[in-house]
Parts: sequence; C-alpha cells; structure tokens
Amino acid sequence: MSIDTNQQVQPAITQDKPATKKRVFSGIQPTNNIHLGNYLGAIRNWVETQDQYDNVFCIVDLHAITLPIDPKDLHNNTRKLAALYLACGLDAAHCKVFVQSHVHQHAELSWILNCFTPMGWLNRMTQFKTKAGDDMETVSAGLYCYPVLMAGDILLYQTDLVPVGDDQRQHVELTRDLAQRFNSLYNKPVFTIPKADIRAAGARVMSLEDPTKKMSKSDPNPNAYITLLDDPKTIKKKIGRATTDSERLVTFDPARPGITNLLTIYQALTGQSNQEIEADFAGKGYGDFKAALTERLVETLSPIQQRYHELINDMPTLEAILKQGADEVRPMAEHTVQEVKKAIGLG
Ligand code: ATP
Ligand code: MG
Repeated sequence: MSIDTNQQVQPAITQDKPATKKRVFSGIQPTNNIHLGNYLGAIRNWVETQDQYDNVFCIVDLHAITLPIDPKDLHNNTRKLAALYLACGLDAAHCKVFVQSHVHQHAELSWILNCFTPMGWLNRMTQFKTKAGDDMETVSAGLYCYPVLMAGDILLYQTDLVPVGDDQRQHVELTRDLAQRFNSLYNKPVFTIPKADIRAAGARVMSLEDPTKKMSKSDPNPNAYITLLDDPKTIKKKIGRATTDSERLVTFDPARPGITNLLTIYQALTGQSNQEIEADFAGKGYGDFKAALTERLVETLSPIQQRYHELINDMPTLEAILKQGADEVRPMAEHTVQEVKKAIGLG
C-alpha cells in the first residue's frame, strides 16, 4: 500500500468525548521526585485549565523503565506522583488520573505504532541522544522507542491538546506525523491529530547548576533541581548556590543564562513582566534577589506539601482514585485499539 500524504481524511472517531469539551492528555514519569520544571511546564497548566477540558492525566510508569530503576522506587514513586498531581490541585472529580501500566492498551498500541514508525524519524529525536549520551550501544531499545510509546499514550484517547514543557515539542510533532501517516495510509480517521499546548511561562526551566541544560529529575546532582517536596532550608541552600555570574545586575540577559533562569522562574511564580521585575530589583544584588525567589518558592510549595502529606498518608483513598481512573479510561483506549486493529486487518 502506498501513502498519499495529500489525501484528506475525515475527522477522527471521537467516541466517549463530550461534544463540547476538548480532550487533554498528559503525563509525567515516576522516575524521581518531581521538580519545579515539571510543575511550571506541565502540572500547573493542567490545573489551571482543568475546568475547560475533558482531562486524562497519566503516571507514565512504562516510560520510567526505559532506564534502569529499582522496583521499590518505581512502585513508591508512582504513588508519590499520584499524590502530588492531586496536591498540586488536580481534582479527581474532573480528571481521570491513572497509572499507565494499569491500562494494557498503552503497550499494545505502542507495539503496533512501532511497526509504522520509520527509523529515520526516531534517529532525529534529540532527547534520545541526550539521554543515551555515550552509552548508545548499551541503552535499551525501549529508550529509543520512547517517543512511539508517548505517541500511543496520546493517540489512544483521541487527544486534542497535549500540555507539556518545551522539551516535549519534538515528540508531540512525531505523534502528529505518525497519526497523519496512519490515517492517510488506511484512508480512515482512526486518530485525532493532537496539538502541543506549550505555555510561554515556565516552559523550559533550566538546571540550577548548569543553566545551559534543562532541569531534569534524572539529573544525578540533586542541587540541579528544586523538588516539590524540598523543605525551606533545602530551597534556600539550592537557590543560594545556584550558578550565576560575576556581574551584579538583576536583569534578563541571554548572555547570562544562570541569572536569567532564576528570573524566569521568579516571573513564572509572580506573573510580573520583565520590566516590573527588573525595576523591583534595580540597585539590588543577587543576594536580595535570591532571598525574594526563595520566599516565593516556599510560599508556592508549602501548601502543596501540606496536601501531599495528607494524601500520601491515606493510601486506600489514593489507590481507589487510581483504580477508578484506569476503569474510566480503559474503554476509550480499547475502542481506539479495536479501530486500529480493524484498519490494519489484525484479528
Ligand atoms: P526525566 O529526567 O526522568 O526525563 P523530566 O524532568 O524530564 O524527567 P518528564 O517526566 O520527562 O520529566 O516530563 C514531565 C513533564 O514535565 C513534561 O511535560 C515535560 O515537558 C515537563 N518538563 C520536564 N522538564 C522540564 C523543564 N525543565 N522545564 C519545563 N518543563 C519540563
Ligand atoms: Mg523527561
């Protein structure tokens, strides 16, 4: 069968989706304690718009095994992340919150999509190159195929919008290409074509140690990130030692990525413009600015931490929320898998 990329396909099959609301899907890997970048680039945006959309939020544990991880850590991180989703403000009454491996259709669609993904497309993925580093020969094939699993996650739910940080832009593009390719190949609107939803503020929070790298949970140096569970003393210490430069000007300046990163975090927390922030700190030094940033961070994270501790200490309720979420999304996922199989001729 040849692919006609110019072919127009019908709108996708939108089963189980309320006619008036767009569907949002996103997820985070339970690889470690989540950090400020995950919050500002992803969760905070999910929370802000949850009333407008039909929401599906996943804890993507199948992604977390693409790199080695201790079984106990994986199990515990999964529950901790669920508690943090809710502590940050996701309302289980309005959002389907679940664990990826509880819905086996993720793995099933991922395999099928792997067979439709040209190697050349995956070879262009920059995250794989960054994560594999010099271990190209020894990292798992799962790490290489990660973007296809992510495409399956999104496409299973006929997703319209994918709120993510800037680092996931390329993977959402690949998801769109893959959906378009599949729909064209079978001349059938099997998948909705999703769009990335990347907000300006907080889309790319950089490492506190090396501001040319993004902040990452998997960074071996914990001083590179602020986790959502860091206490005030730890936040003060990490911001205090965050990389800046020898100048004293508290101004946004791409040539000084350390202070600019800290200012960008401050901006994401306060909603102030560049000019307002620069005016507030005119004539002041990095010490004053870092103290103000620390205060804002503690103010933002304290209530989240308080709710988190209540949730994590009530495991039966948390498990019940996750079970309910999986039970709610499974029929949607199964419907898509059946449409995919029908199109291909499987079964
Ligand atoms: P890992 O190092 O394990 O890949 P991560 O910090 O990159 O962890 P992910 O679970 O891969 O976190 O990503 C979860 C969400 O957080 C995604 O939407 C991603 O775009 C967003 N995100 C991750 N890092 C940042 C960051 N530094 N700034 C803004 N958003 C981010
Ligand atoms: Mg990541």
